[in-house]
Amino acid sequence: MVVTHVDRLYRRVTDYLELSEALAKANCWVKSINTSDLRPNDAGTKVLNTVMAAIAENESELKTVRLVDRHRTIAEEGGYSGGPRPYGYRPDGNGGLVIVRDEAEVIRDAAERVLGGESVASICSDLNRRGVQTISAKEWRAGDLHQTIKGVANGRITLTRQERAVIRRAERRMEAGDPLSAVCADLTAKEVPVISRSVWRTPTLRAVLTSARVAGKRAYVGKESRDKGKPAAEQFVTDARWPAILPEPTWVALRRVIADPARQGKRSTPHRYMLTGGIARCGLCGQPLHARRKQSGARAMACIASVDKDGCGGLEVVAEPVERFVRKYVTDQFSSGEVERFVDEKPPADAEHILIEMRRIENDVADLEAQVRAGDLGAAQFGRMNGGMQEDLRQLEAEFAMLTKASAGARFVGRGDLLERSWDDLSLSAQRAIIGSVVERVDIRKGNPGPKFDYDRIDIIDRQL
Ligand SMILES: [Zn+2]
Repeated sequence: MVVTHVDRLYRRVTDYLELSEALAKANCWVKSINTSDLRPNDAGTKVLNTVMAAIAENESELKTVRLVDRHRTIAEEGGYSGGPRPYGYRPDGNGGLVIVRDEAEVIRDAAERVLGGESVASICSDLNRRGVQTISAKEWRAGDLHQTIKGVANGRITLTRQERAVIRRAERRMEAGDPLSAVCADLTAKEVPVISRSVWRTPTLRAVLTSARVAGKRAYVGKESRDKGKPAAEQFVTDARWPAILPEPTWVALRRVIADPARQGKRSTPHRYMLTGGIARCGLCGQPLHARRKQSGARAMACIASVDKDGCGGLEVVAEPVERFVRKYVTDQFSSGEVERFVDEKPPADAEHILIEMRRIENDVADLEAQVRAGDLGAAQFGRMNGGMQEDLRQLEAEFAMLTKASAGARFVGRGDLLERSWDDLSLSAQRAIIGSVVERVDIRKGNPGPKFDYDRIDIIDRQL
């Protein structure tokens, strides 16, 4: 194996030791371009590499702690931590925000209508009909072109003649093989407003109306660190360094109405079942398992015999350990790099643009991380830039999954660690597509009774080629 830098291989001492053991067993070594090679049987490099792994581990911990601390401090002081301008406000240049009068009017009007019983969706279509702009974005990001093209196709976006010409030109450039990033940079440079982001959508308006910000408050939700032993998620709300647009009682009522499950119908509490609907099957009769709640409230999957379900009714299993097991199996398969044989033929050209763009953003993130490590970039600045880029990645990912149902996992081939980290951010359909690219079905047998979960019940059958 050849790498540019050995610290790309491992971030923890234990990872290093594991890797080095595996290499020794396989009688292999790693060639590094910029650092010394990793030769597990050479005692001198072994000591050196252990020390370097320890340094890398310490650095990445410090970096996380510094970032989290900085964001929390800003939040505690009720400050605005940057990023895209929030609707209704603009930065005052001094860590606070001031009200944008027209936009505040839109918020107050929408709040009144929601409290009067109108749906958020209907208010959105009204705003769109009246041509009320969302935040007019100036910078085109990779997902915006696709959003626009999709929006036109499904009738959500109507283009002016001028806009139509702009989009057609951009499409033609993409077909000719121009990188998406270049096309976007060009649109930005020509000061074409971002079309997709000037359309109101329900989640956008709902988020604006229920944000602590519009009530003059600053909310902080600490992200739970993925590393063990780090502080768990924490959150608080404090008075912000900006005026409220909505009086507090109005805002409280609004949140109650918008969060009311009766209002949102059955869709409000979707429970994610990764394996029902055909992947998990009854080991007794072969029928698919269905979602079912145990009396304890735990999610379970069961073989059901009823008028419209042809199961034998003789089997039930708790969902969580099965899902965890299958997920681990799948990410391991992706790590092995052999998944190329599971992923369907070449993705369409559009998807390839997206893939290239994602790789580019991932590289940018890695570069920025390196700059932070070298002390050339501040942690807060990194946080802001990284936030935007992660957002872009998620958007691209969703587009990619839509274009290439069967090869939803293409970007994770050989990168099981990335898949593992991204798993919770993937949509349920993307997760299922990725599982489906590796696994034909999961048979569940009768288990041994007892308090411990019997993993021998799970029989994973690989996808047939
Ligand atoms: Zn059955």
